[in-house]
Amino acid sequence: EAGQIADRMGYKIYAAGGVVRDILLGQESLDVDLVVEGNGILLAEELAKLYDARVRQHQNFGTAEILFSDDFKIDVATARVEFYAYPAALPQVESSTLHQDLYRRDFTINAMAVALNESSYGNLIDFFDGRKDLQEHTVRVLHNLSFIEDPTRILRAIRFEQRYGFKIEPQTLKFLNETVNRDVLSRVSNERIGEELKHIFLEPQAGIMLRRMNELAVWPFIFPGVNYSEIEPALMNLHRALQQIIDWGMKVPEPRWLVYLIAILHRSDAEVARAVCEQYAVDKRSTEKLLAALQGWNRSADVLRQKPQHLKVSQQAQILLQMPWESSPLLLAILNDEESQERFRQLLNIIRDSKPKTSGEYIRNLGYRPGPVYREVLDALWREKLDGNLDTEEEEQAFMRD
Ligand code: ATP
Repeated sequence: EAGQIADRMGYKIYAAGGVVRDILLGQESLDVDLVVEGNGILLAEELAKLYDARVRQHQNFGTAEILFSDDFKIDVATARVEFYAYPAALPQVESSTLHQDLYRRDFTINAMAVALNESSYGNLIDFFDGRKDLQEHTVRVLHNLSFIEDPTRILRAIRFEQRYGFKIEPQTLKFLNETVNRDVLSRVSNERIGEELKHIFLEPQAGIMLRRMNELAVWPFIFPGVNYSEIEPALMNLHRALQQIIDWGMKVPEPRWLVYLIAILHRSDAEVARAVCEQYAVDKRSTEKLLAALQGWNRSADVLRQKPQHLKVSQQAQILLQMPWESSPLLLAILNDEESQERFRQLLNIIRDSKPKTSGEYIRNLGYRPGPVYREVLDALWREKLDGNLDTEEEEQAFMRD
């Protein structure tokens, strides 16, 4: 479709970047990146009309996003058309604009394009041997200043390397190390690092990626003052624990970055944790949740391991409920025996199933005025239910009348 529209408008058009990499890997790709030699914004509008989609444009950059209803997104970029003095060289000029676009990208495996115009449909454009690197499982930069130019590529290199089980190519690794040693990372905006971190946390391999960040001495720039080695075991288990909780049919702990941040900071002092939260502009509510998790994880884990024995279920629940739900993967990740993990699951189920059937309404009908007493009565009712002392609605109501 895009190819036909481009043909009509007299533009050349390519799919580029991650989508080409994913196609060659035989994997599905969610986002599509189009590069247009021509007016990308106009083309985006034509394409959107066809699918009844929305266009968000960034006039200054000559880029546009086509937003489809179901999360699917197409980015359209305009390859910079340069003015050359020799019209005879026109065909070459055209491909040189695509070349320039691809040359600005991070790694050879992300710098390939596929032609979409009808006459050339499906041709792979691979100026930098990306296909070979893909076959050889290699992450390679396009030039030696790549990491200096944009140090967030260090995190991207780690992400692609671990996601696909590739290796960062030796020369690239040397550039990476030099960039780290030259302290360039501390000059990158925290916002951009934060964005890359969010991408990492969404990967099933996030744990290994964080380990690699430590191995490559990147960690101290990203999480200053946080001792990596003492949290490694929890981080390595975190994704599996998260998946487990989802498999139990419970609410998905979200957002993912908070789940990870809690695990990363759980052994740190509140001061260190606060500083990291500030660094990444974490909102106040999430920071509070995180600090609550820092305070409570140890005690909650003890409860689940039944360290203080003979606590009533209601007392166990009370301790657990002081923890934010986003910290539940951490809790599960640090419980390394199945018995405690099962206890965790059961307790969560009991908490979920013990919501009293009686409401505040009933208290009002008993003649109480709305106020703190409501809370007290309902809390007491709930404790009794958790401890298994009340079952039916009649029993609940009898308890409340008392
Ligand atoms: P993913 O599968 O994680 O979405 P992706 O390659 O599609 O991977 P994006 O972040 O969406 O990742 O980037 C799309 C393309 O833009 C990349 O394939 C790459 O060509 C280019 N790109 C993205 N970030 C950078 C960067 N920091 N420096 C250079 N090129 C980049």
